[in-house]
Amino acid sequence: MQLKKGDTVLVLSGKDRGKKGKVIQMLPKKDKLRVEGVNMVKKHQKAQGQVMQAGIVPMEAPMPKGKVMFVCPHCNQPSKIVRRALESGKNGRFCRRCGEVLER
Ligand SMILES: [Zn+2]
Repeated sequence: MQLKKGDTVLVLSGKDRGKKGKVIQMLPKKDKLRVEGVNMVKKHQKAQGQVMQAGIVPMEAPMPKGKVMFVCPHCNQPSKIVRRALESGKNGRFCRRCGEVLER
């Protein structure tokens, strides 16, 4: 999988199955990622000065990459990313379903 921060993914399993969200962080070393609004956990936070108040703060917990599937922004369907050379000669990411370039 060639996911990047900002990509939209569909959750395939777990309590958030069927949810879509944006990748907010990739953790390649752990083979995990964090998805906006998915796999929320409540984190207890201590007050830090006057800016942050103590309390329970919801945050996204990392989840395994294998539990999500890429959703193409062009065809809006779960798809796979393929790498192919662009006209410029650089490698680009393409949607396997509709063939659109995902970024340049
Ligand atoms: Zn597509």
